[in-house]
Amino acid sequence: MKTILILGGGTGGTIVANRLAHGLRPDDVSIEVVSDSPLHYYQPAQLYVPFGEEDPRKIARSERKLLNPKVNFRIDTISEWIPDKQLLRTAKGENLSYDFLVIATGSIACPEAVEGFVAGADHFYTPEAAYRLYHKLSELEGGRLVVGVGGIPYKCPVAPLEFTLLAEAFLTHKGIRSNTEIVYTFPLNEVFQIASVVPVVRSLFEQRSIRAETFFNLESVDPEKKVVKSLEGTELPFDILVMTPPHKGAAFLRGHPMADNDGWVNTDRNTLRVNGLPNVWALGDTTNLPISKAGSTAHFEAPVIVEQIMATIRRQEPPPGKATYNGHVTCFIDAGYGKATILDFDYDHPPTVYEPDEFRHLQKMAFNKLYWHLVPTAVI
Ligand SMILES: Cc1cc2nc3c(=O)[nH]c(=O)nc-3n(C[C@H](O)[C@H](O)[C@H](O)COP(=O)(O)OP(=O)(O)OC[C@H]3O[C@@H](n4cnc5c(N)ncnc54)[C@H](O)[C@@H]3O)c2cc1C
Repeated sequence: MKTILILGGGTGGTIVANRLAHGLRPDDVSIEVVSDSPLHYYQPAQLYVPFGEEDPRKIARSERKLLNPKVNFRIDTISEWIPDKQLLRTAKGENLSYDFLVIATGSIACPEAVEGFVAGADHFYTPEAAYRLYHKLSELEGGRLVVGVGGIPYKCPVAPLEFTLLAEAFLTHKGIRSNTEIVYTFPLNEVFQIASVVPVVRSLFEQRSIRAETFFNLESVDPEKKVVKSLEGTELPFDILVMTPPHKGAAFLRGHPMADNDGWVNTDRNTLRVNGLPNVWALGDTTNLPISKAGSTAHFEAPVIVEQIMATIRRQEPPPGKATYNGHVTCFIDAGYGKATILDFDYDHPPTVYEPDEFRHLQKMAFNKLYWHLVPTAVI
């Protein structure tokens, strides 16, 4: 009997577990998910909490109920990984050994990594923070809203753009757009990291009078003076500051020999194997791959890992073409006013971006509802 351990009960870990449970017989393997929360969060819904369009209490479901009954579920925090011994240690003091290991512990927003952030800035990367921001936006009567990215990489690269566009529409509906200035900051010399996306974003910003401040690498926030400072020496006063915090991998991976100092795991871009270890894979936000940290990334990566594990257990070669990840990512961009566009790309093909329209928006809204039925359950 082989033991497959899957770390993280979020998007990537749940899909891998359910696909393996469908494909393998329980007599041959034990499949266990270890996660530090009993809940599975649909994080894209957090984007809508600040605008009162989502209830933060309704964006999580029981991970146990999403998992196939053949999968064991353990609620515990992984605190140490010793690859040489094929061993993991947990916060509750358990030692877990494995034959196959899948790391899907995601990424964590770390506002405390920036001086003054916690006291002076807001964000929407946890349900609680998004709800605090809802109250602030409800009370806003005008002034200056600064939205920005406080460090790359971060999850869902388009989320800060979406927030900016949704905030503009929200302020317009509220009747305070004319007395609220919106400034968007980005660390690179353009408004987004993928060149083909820039013209559409620039055009939307121009139409909606949103000012972009590029080359703005967040240094600190002064909560008293309500000023945000960049390493480049720019200082921006604000009434509300909505910053994407710097992100890191899970604590047990930071500085680990198989990862970098921020906890991004050294992952092969095609096989998704970790540092060449034959029986360890990583997927989703936790990898060091230079692609979007997005749920769709984890969704497209999961079958690649599952095919390799199943082939190894069956002592076969994986089916041709099915065990290689090509960098496929799909992301909607909600542009506000009931319109959206979509980015679809892979390692070799950058996205072609179209003007936002109502159809794409409908698709995004439908996907947000269907996620629970289709994605973690591995129906698609
Ligand atoms: C506001 C917002 C909007 C987004 N919008 C989109 C979107 O439109 N489209 C899109 O594709 N993606 C979007 N994303 C990103 C998407 O949610 C993530 O990329 C996706 O959830 C990553 O999946 P994952 O399995 O890697 O990690 P996660 O789904 O985050 O799961 C990680 C799991 O690991 C657990 N864990 C962490 N550390 C440990 C540990 N030490 N021990 C045990 N368990 C641990 C966590 O509790 C969690 O259950 C958005 C994210 C946010 C925050």
